[in-house]
Amino acid sequence: MWAPSATSNGNSGPIRIAPTRGAHRLAGVFLDAMRELGTPTNPAYNGEEQTGASITHVNQSGGWRQSAATGYLKPVRHRANLKILTDASVRRIATTGKRATGVEFSRGGRVEVARARGEIILSASAINSPKLLMLSGIGPGSVLARHGIDIVHDNAGVGANLQEHACAHVVGLVNVRTSNLDTGGLPALLHAARFALFGAGQATYVAPAIAFVKTRPELDYPDIQFHFGVYGYDFTPEGVRMLDRPAVTLQPNVNRSRSRGHLEIRSADPDQAPAIHPNMLGDPHDLETLVEGVKYGQRVLRSKAFAPFVVGEHKPGPAVATEEALVDHVRHAASGVFHPCGTCKMGIDAAAVVDPALRVIGVEGLRVIDSSIIPQIPSGNINAISLAIGEKGADLVLKGARAV
Ligand SMILES: Cc1cc2nc3c(=O)[nH]c(=O)nc-3n(C[C@H](O)[C@H](O)[C@H](O)COP(=O)(O)OP(=O)(O)OC[C@H]3O[C@@H](n4cnc5c(N)ncnc54)[C@H](O)[C@@H]3O)c2cc1C
Repeated sequence: MWAPSATSNGNSGPIRIAPTRGAHRLAGVFLDAMRELGTPTNPAYNGEEQTGASITHVNQSGGWRQSAATGYLKPVRHRANLKILTDASVRRIATTGKRATGVEFSRGGRVEVARARGEIILSASAINSPKLLMLSGIGPGSVLARHGIDIVHDNAGVGANLQEHACAHVVGLVNVRTSNLDTGGLPALLHAARFALFGAGQATYVAPAIAFVKTRPELDYPDIQFHFGVYGYDFTPEGVRMLDRPAVTLQPNVNRSRSRGHLEIRSADPDQAPAIHPNMLGDPHDLETLVEGVKYGQRVLRSKAFAPFVVGEHKPGPAVATEEALVDHVRHAASGVFHPCGTCKMGIDAAAVVDPALRVIGVEGLRVIDSSIIPQIPSGNINAISLAIGEKGADLVLKGARAV
């Protein structure tokens, strides 16, 4: 049984970490199948050795979600030196010359500007931080000129270097009850009751087990991560449609992807979403790795451990019978796992947007502190990393303030 340890996790921070409570029995079968294929069980996968399969560790306390808001904001929200404005949408950073001086935002139909005496910290995500920089005149000169935005600092790196964990889905049909049969009515109520009474069960998780797998033993890091879920769905033109039969999903994604996408604003209107070009499988390495991940997932479904439970493969499915067909399937079916990052890259090279102290290069009084500063997408989900960036960023801001 895993417990937080000082060497790998610590146990005194604002965000509690715990193993998934009341994981579905097929999560244990997933661990057995992984072991059968040579991937060990490793409940300390957030420690020094990442390779292995485990019941997923989640940001929860007693089954309750520990978000950044509950861990960091809620405890300090009454501080006299903190003012939180909700339902406010930032439109751009106001600048005077090369200095950031305020934040323009809309609220209740009115546009206002909050003036900054000190620094402005932009933490609007890997999609919206580069968008707001561009709207503020900080970004690729050609893009800004096209939309009639005055250039404060020309930097082609803003919005570039977009990265994701490209994933595919291996879906098995099974003969035991899964979430597919429990989306409404009494079964959903029973899951809600289990959560209310015990803080456990299917209402507390999406993927009760995960695995970090090397597709080739000589690799020095696991190049695939699996999320294991007790559900199965199809993508349809109308959106996601749950299968009407019990199913499990093994979702391999490429770690440390090499592909790079980009995003850019489509106009100078802050209400317009940016154009996003993920290019997730642009590098052949990522496509090849994902295809190997799918094959590994298929082997898991065909393992001795799963044999008593699996009654068929829904995806990729029997129609995808050749290597060529599988590559084609992955190329068309791949999607992201909600881990966009890298669009305001930290660094000291020409493509960097922020310096190692997270200050926006070329502009004074402005930092970016969020997932957009990640130079290279890591192996593993990036929420904890985003929190660590926030912690480190806060230290850097304090250090800067003390030095003045
Ligand atoms: C559906 C989903 C599931 C995920 N599951 C996991 C998971 O299981 N594990 C994991 O590790 N990671 C997961 N992630 C990823 C993780 O949530 C993100 O990587 C992380 O939140 C990124 O942090 P961030 O601070 O960069 O951006 P965010 O958390 O997105 O914070 C940006 C904030 O800025 C605000 N904002 C943006 N634009 C404006 C504006 N113009 N004006 C005012 N406010 C603005 C947003 O409302 C938001 O509050 C998931 C993401 C999604 C979407």
